[in-house]
Amino acid sequence: MEAEKNISEKKIQELYDKLKKDAELAGYYLNPTVDFTKQLVRSLIINQMRYGYQACPCRLASGKKEDDLDIICPCDYRDADILDYGACYCGLYVSEKILKGEIQLQSIPERRPPEEQRKKAKTTTQKISEPLPYPVWRCKVCGYLCARESPPEICPICKAKKERFERFI
Ligand code: SF4
Repeated sequence: MEAEKNISEKKIQELYDKLKKDAELAGYYLNPTVDFTKQLVRSLIINQMRYGYQACPCRLASGKKEDDLDIICPCDYRDADILDYGACYCGLYVSEKILKGEIQLQSIPERRPPEEQRKKAKTTTQKISEPLPYPVWRCKVCGYLCARESPPEICPICKAKKERFERFI
C-alpha cells in the first residue's frame, strides 16, 4: 500500500521517542540497536494504519481487535519473556542485562497460547465465595492490580489502555 511505503522518518522518530520515554518511566528498555528498533516501530505504525491498533509486528493479527487484545503492543507476554529470555518476542523491549551487553539476545519461543486455548480462557469465569466492596482489576500487560469500580484509563505502570485490564476478583 502506498501510504505504508511513505511513512516518514519523523513519524517513526516520534513514536520511537514516545515508546522510549514511556518504557524508561516504567522501568523497561527499548532495544539499543536503534535501526532494528525503528524497523519494529515502523511496523507498529503500519499495523496502526491497517488495523486501527498497534498489533505486534512479529505476529499475524486477525484484524479483529477483541481477538488481538493480547498482542497489542506491549503484549500480555512481554514481561514474562523479558524475565525468561531477556527480551520480548520481537526484541523491541529488552532487559537491563541485554541493554548493557552482559547477555546476548537469543531466539524466543512463542508464548501466546493457541487460538482454542485463548478462547477457552476468555469464557472461564472466576468464582469467589466472599464479595469484595470493589472489584479488583488486573493489567494483563504488567500485572498491576487495583480495586475500584472500573479499571483506570491508562495503566500507571506500563501505560497500557483500559481495554487491557481484566476483572481479577
Ligand atoms: S512487546 Fe509484545 S507486541 Fe510489542 S513488540 Fe514485543 S512481542 Fe511484539
